[in-house]
Amino acid sequence: MTLPDGIVRRAFDGRERLATSGEPVYGEPTDGQWRVWDAGRSKLGAMLELGMDVPLSGGESVLYLGAASGTTVSHVADFAGPTYAVEFAPRPVRDLVSVAADRSNLFPLLKDARQPETYAHVVESNLDAIIQDVATRGQATVAARNATFLDEDGVLLAAIKARSEDVTADPEAVYDRVLDELEETYEILETRSLEPYHDDHLGVVARKQ
Ligand code: SAM
Repeated sequence: MTLPDGIVRRAFDGRERLATSGEPVYGEPTDGQWRVWDAGRSKLGAMLELGMDVPLSGGESVLYLGAASGTTVSHVADFAGPTYAVEFAPRPVRDLVSVAADRSNLFPLLKDARQPETYAHVVESNLDAIIQDVATRGQATVAARNATFLDEDGVLLAAIKARSEDVTADPEAVYDRVLDELEETYEILETRSLEPYHDDHLGVVARKQ
């Protein structure tokens, strides 16, 4: 699998790790300009580490849903173009604002991803990619509602957390339901369990249709 420009594999303490170039954010190991992208703390990092075919080449415009305090979206902003980061919890957004202070292409938005109309005036349309990690009930609905921001062949990279949909159900049954709903808006290109990095999470690569 070819990594997008701006993401490299480098040896850190004798082990090959993913890394991007930028200011450190969460105490990750660094080597000069390079900062380790810890797949154990990032679903997108796990998707890349597990070799999923992520159709990005670097420099893309991105809408990131579920940014929390910026662990993953900081790496995204290191290799992507304009990166709009939506998070609805005020406390992590305070940290996210600090992360964005070092990244002129990262735009934090204290918004609810279930209500894209509340940030439609800020986020550009015809985006190249949505990256989603909202860990909330209704993950397929969030992806469908935000598809309006995507270019006609834009891609969705999502981590679906089974327990957020239904704590008692078999994760495989949950994934089937979520994928069925996603297929109303997206063509599914690849899915993969994110274990051993993240239990009960499915990585999804899809294209808007
Ligand atoms: N993606 C983050 C990372 O890797 O650094 C971690 C995200 S955490 C698993 C999920 C986040 O989604 C939480 O911070 C939560 O507050 C946020 N979230 C859940 N539902 C949301 C919604 N409807 N709108 C915006 N953010 C939401």
